[in-house]
Amino acid sequence: MLQPVLAPRRKTVAVKIGSVTVGGGAPVVVQSMTNTDTADPVRTAIQVAELARAGSEIVRLTVNTEEAAAAVTEIRERVEAMGLDVPLIGDFHFNGHKLLSKYPACAEALSKFRINPGNVGRGKKRDEQFAQMIEFACRYDKPVRIGVNWGSLDQDLLARKLDANAKRPEPKSLEEITHDALLESALSSAHRAEVLGLAHDRIILSCKISAVQDLIRAYRDLAERCDYPLHLGLTEAGMGTKGIVASTAALSVLLAEGIGDTIRISLTPEPGGERTQEVRVAQEILQSLGMRSFTPRVIACPGCGRTSSDYFQHLAAEIQEFLVAQMPVWRKTHPGVEEMSVAVMGCVVNGPGESRNANIGISLPGSGETPVAPVYVNGEKTVTLKGDGIAEEFKALVTDYVQRHYRQEDQPASA
Ligand code: SF4
Repeated sequence: MLQPVLAPRRKTVAVKIGSVTVGGGAPVVVQSMTNTDTADPVRTAIQVAELARAGSEIVRLTVNTEEAAAAVTEIRERVEAMGLDVPLIGDFHFNGHKLLSKYPACAEALSKFRINPGNVGRGKKRDEQFAQMIEFACRYDKPVRIGVNWGSLDQDLLARKLDANAKRPEPKSLEEITHDALLESALSSAHRAEVLGLAHDRIILSCKISAVQDLIRAYRDLAERCDYPLHLGLTEAGMGTKGIVASTAALSVLLAEGIGDTIRISLTPEPGGERTQEVRVAQEILQSLGMRSFTPRVIACPGCGRTSSDYFQHLAAEIQEFLVAQMPVWRKTHPGVEEMSVAVMGCVVNGPGESRNANIGISLPGSGETPVAPVYVNGEKTVTLKGDGIAEEFKALVTDYVQRHYRQEDQPASA
């Protein structure tokens, strides 16, 4: 028998965030963050809706000013008026204690608070303001993410650890001390939150770093030392291919080891690019690992000198877009469709084989081949398409396949 590739999921407590459960064996949750000005409730609500419709199961927004805190209730109402029940998370730095005190409706409208122990206050105020944040979480019955970030590590803690290290007979490297400080910041803050009254199952931890190996090391150690659910993310991953690849590399290693209960991909959007890209990348990582399914999988070959034109690339892209566009409806009307595989192949070399292995597939003619495109359904060749209407005809066949094979429980099966 083949051995499983993925390790069993690490055991954690379950944390309820509105209607979503993180940890406790629940499927790994996809989340994202807005980049609009939270003080603009219209634009922010629209972006929250875009992210939620793309599949973000939790959406975080920065709550950085009084205007932002005052806008949160309206954002919540606008999102709900669009028929969406996505939990909103407030990201607080420096002034969260003041904002939650002055804007109780903001605290009510949020489903979780994110607290960065490195940005909660300086000197003596740090402990006091952290305690105030936890008091609000208890009062409003909200879970908290203790979110440590390499770029905003608690400098007092780091300084103390560096001083102690300097007195050791064999001092550790700065890298080791920083790693220790990151973990200590997360774990000691979580411990203190519990001492202050926050329940054990109201805490999620994260320890974000921008270097892949450092991130993997930090989460492996964190996973060994606690049973809080872990929020994974490579911070400041960057733009485009670099950000996607670095995030995928880091998160895949951890997820394959059973570590991670919710993920966020911190991509810098291209100018004018879509914020929802980070949601699609998160989904692709989970789907590629076989941990969750979100959208039918398009199997397309890379093309080569045997592909006679770029028609094959256009068709693969068109089918991918078609499937993504159908999913908001199909997800409800045809449950299970997200498991479907659709092959779009460039020539006879691998085309028939991949198409037979997919639920439905098409093998286009390569250069020098007869200009016909056989279609395979459940491994059997069914029809052969040709001419200018191949794309539309194939989409109709895919739709027909979905209607025949994925039905609502209360609908009769098609013949
Ligand atoms: S299936 Fe054909 S067109 Fe596609 S990469 Fe292979 S040989 Fe090239």
